[in-house]
Amino acid sequence: MDLGITGKWALVCAASKGLGKGCAQALVREGVNVVITARGDETLQATATELRALNGGEVRAVAGDITTPEGRAAALAVCPQVDILVNNAGGPPPGDFRDWDRDAWIKALDANMLTPIALMKATVDAMAERGFGRVVNITSGAVKAPIDVLGLSNGARSGLTGFVAGLARSGIAARGVTINGVLPGVFETDRLRTTFETLWERRRQTVPARRFGTPEEFGAVCAFLCSVHAAYLTGQNILLDGGAYPGTF
Ligand code: NAP
Repeated sequence: MDLGITGKWALVCAASKGLGKGCAQALVREGVNVVITARGDETLQATATELRALNGGEVRAVAGDITTPEGRAAALAVCPQVDILVNNAGGPPPGDFRDWDRDAWIKALDANMLTPIALMKATVDAMAERGFGRVVNITSGAVKAPIDVLGLSNGARSGLTGFVAGLARSGIAARGVTINGVLPGVFETDRLRTTFETLWERRRQTVPARRFGTPEEFGAVCAFLCSVHAAYLTGQNILLDGGAYPGTF
């Protein structure tokens, strides 16, 4: 299927590894020009080289912390226009809410709620003026089924999801801009390895698919949401979890 987005520009945040990289790969394969970001320049440049080898769209890489105003400004500065925005950043650490002070909460809110909101603020009106825009927010299955030790993530990402539910249905909806969340269940990335190192096998057995998702599968869904075919799909939260969520809806 031709996704109809060849030549568009995408800003894919936090994309030197894992789910963000999976999204960038899928978009580049569709001929989308991408700007990828991450803090660590070495891995980022290696990923950019890999993406260029796909012979798809142009690839630019900007090292920086996307959760800071400087990091966001640097990323936006090298993207000629943002037709597609994939919001992503590292997730907050697990723990007990009794140990989290205000700083811990502000850090989580900054990374997983206020950063995506700032980037949407910087881009959606121009998307609407051009009559085309796609925003994909990488959140977490924890938005639908909270995980107690990931309270910082549950809270910050639910805040983002609630805000986006309103924004997606505002005036921009009639002007070609869609905003959706993609909620990863368990995916085989570095993040997973650090969070679930000791529970790896037991965790796998809890997924009806009996395996973890791959960044490629995640990227394919992201690319479809960014396509011209998904123009009527907005304000939704798409769970990608191999059947782990037990509810009917
Ligand atoms: P990952 O494999 O660790 O990759 C994270 C990527 O984000 C790396 O490229 C990292 O590069 C970059 N990054 C992290 N913090 C950044 C920042 N402040 N500014 C710019 N780039 C940053 O993680 P992942 O598994 O893909 O997870 C991506 C997101 O999905 C996380 O928020 C995670 O909590 C969430 N999630 C993942 C799963 C899963 O199963 N994998 C499940 C639920 C939710 P640098 O470190 O060099 O910056």
